[in-house]
Amino acid sequence: MSIESAVANTADYVASQSDQKAARLHDQYQKVKLEAEKLLAERNLARRALQRRADFVVKVGADYQCPRCWIEREKRSPLRPLEGDIMACRECGIDIQVD
Ligand SMILES: [Zn+2]
Repeated sequence: MSIESAVANTADYVASQSDQKAARLHDQYQKVKLEAEKLLAERNLARRALQRRADFVVKVGADYQCPRCWIEREKRSPLRPLEGDIMACRECGIDIQVD
C-alpha cells in the first residue's frame, strides 16, 4: 500500500469514528434534553406548592380530599376511610391518621 493510500484510509477511518461519535453524542444530548425538560416541569410544579396549599380545600361535597395529590400534582382525589382511624388515598397511597 502506498503512503498516499495508507493516509487516505486512515482519514476514512478517523472520519467514520467521528461520525459514529457524533451520532452517540446526539442520542445522549436528546436524552439529557428530555430529562432537563422533565426536571423543569417538575420544578415548576413544585414551585407552586405553597400556592396550591393555600388553594387546597379539605372537603369537596362529602369527600375529604387528599392533600398530597392536590399539592404535588394539582389533582383532586378523595380520601377513603380504612380500618381504625385512618383515611387513605387510592391515587398516591398516603395514609392519614385522623384520631
Ligand atoms: Zn393522594
